[in-house]
Amino acid sequence: STRYLRKPEWLKVKLPTSKCFSQTRKLLADLNLNTVCQGARCPNIFECFSKKTATFLILGKFCTRNCAFCNIEHNKPEPVDLEEPVRVVEAVKRLQLEYVVITSVTRDDLPDGGASQFKKVIELLKQNLNVRVEVLIPDFKGSYEALKIVLDAKPNVLNHNVETVPSLYRKIRPQADFEQSLLLLKRTKDYNSQIKTKSGLMLGLGETKTEVIEVLEKLVEVRCDMVTLGQYLQPSRNHYPVKRYVHPDEFFEFKERGEQMGLKVFSGPFVRSSYHAADWV
Ligand code: SF4
Ligand code: SF4
Repeated sequence: STRYLRKPEWLKVKLPTSKCFSQTRKLLADLNLNTVCQGARCPNIFECFSKKTATFLILGKFCTRNCAFCNIEHNKPEPVDLEEPVRVVEAVKRLQLEYVVITSVTRDDLPDGGASQFKKVIELLKQNLNVRVEVLIPDFKGSYEALKIVLDAKPNVLNHNVETVPSLYRKIRPQADFEQSLLLLKRTKDYNSQIKTKSGLMLGLGETKTEVIEVLEKLVEVRCDMVTLGQYLQPSRNHYPVKRYVHPDEFFEFKERGEQMGLKVFSGPFVRSSYHAADWV
């Protein structure tokens, strides 16, 4: 069976420990903040934490959706914490970050999907610190109203991942809609073309090469600026299995194809949505 593929050499990482890493972890715990880096067991965690970079996960630890690839816990969501934006600012200040990524679980239970919490975080960060802010947002169930709340706070980058090719949505992201996600990116550009847009896909879920190229073409159509392509890694045996380990050469091929289309592409086995985000803009 192909259920548990052996990891190829290029995916075996050394995990160095560093003082900086543990300090960062402690600081986040003290401020009661969640990061995707920890929650999603990101393979870049040591590198990013050592470089004092982190992606903050706001609006609680529990997601109202249950995507087959995601390690975030599906559970009853927590009440919105009104002090959270202040603590994010405090963490960013203490970590002396210059580029911050803010993301959230999907909050289908909230009338605005959590958009106003994103807005507060962006505004507070911009008022208090000299930072560039990227937000990685959920689809807000297609609500343009909710999207505009976030856009009015003028993030530098609006990131929304399509995650996979349309044919795999039913299996991988059953509560999401590929066209709706594309529309979100298009609306962002239509509303404020100054805001850079970004999207991403995980590879190795069973998609074909042609399907990946087609998604890149669709992203060009909605004037998306940047795309991340990375290897999907199964967070646990209960999650969707890895169908294929995509070779680094193939990642490079996708990068070249995308760049020929005019996209800025970051592509490689370890690339994640927020990996080296600051180097891009
Ligand atoms: Fe965190 Fe993103 Fe770095 Fe992973 S790539 S450790 S999620 S900042
Ligand atoms: Fe994970 Fe986002 Fe899916 Fe929630 S909606 S399970 S956070 S990928």
